[in-house]
Amino acid sequence: MNSKKHYCPFCGSPLGTREENGRVRLYCKHENRYVYENPIPASTAIITDGAGRILLVRRNREPGRNEWALPGGFVENGESPAEAARRELEEETGLDASGPSLVDIIYQESVYYGTSLLIIGYHFSHHEGSIRAGDDADEARFFDTGSMPPLAFESHGALIDTYLIGRGQAGATK
Ligand SMILES: [Zn+2]
Repeated sequence: MNSKKHYCPFCGSPLGTREENGRVRLYCKHENRYVYENPIPASTAIITDGAGRILLVRRNREPGRNEWALPGGFVENGESPAEAARRELEEETGLDASGPSLVDIIYQESVYYGTSLLIIGYHFSHHEGSIRAGDDADEARFFDTGSMPPLAFESHGALIDTYLIGRGQAGATK
C-alpha cells in the first residue's frame, strides 16, 4: 500500500525504494538497509452479559466518531494482544475481564491510519464491575444480537459474527 514515510525513522535521511523478493520496499541508502512496514495490531474485546447481549461502546473520536464499536485499541509495547484487549476494555467501560479466548484475526488496510492493521478479537469468559464509559468512549451498553446498531468498523461486525456462529448462533450483522 502507499506509504507516507519520506524520511528514515532511524537516521532521518530521505528514503528511496528498492526491490526485494519481488516487493518494492522503502530503503535507506545512508544506512544501506530496508525500512520494513508491517500491519499494526489492534485488539478488541467481546463481552456478553447473562442474556447473551454484546457490549459496545459509542466512540467519541475518529475514526468512527459517534458510532458504535467493540471496546478496543492498539497493542502497546510490553503487553500481549489479550492484555491490550483487557486494558482497553477497562479504560473504555470500567469492566475487569478475564478468561480470554481468541475469536479471529482480521487483516485490513486503513485509509485513516495510512497503514494496514491486524484486528484481533478476544472473547472474555468472565467480567466484573459496573459499566462506566471512559477514555475514548462516551457510552457503553449491552445490545441484543438481534438488534445491533450499525458498527463503525466492518471488522468488528465480522468478529462478532465469527464469535456468534462459533457458539451455534446466527450472525448479528448479516
Ligand atoms: Zn536511515
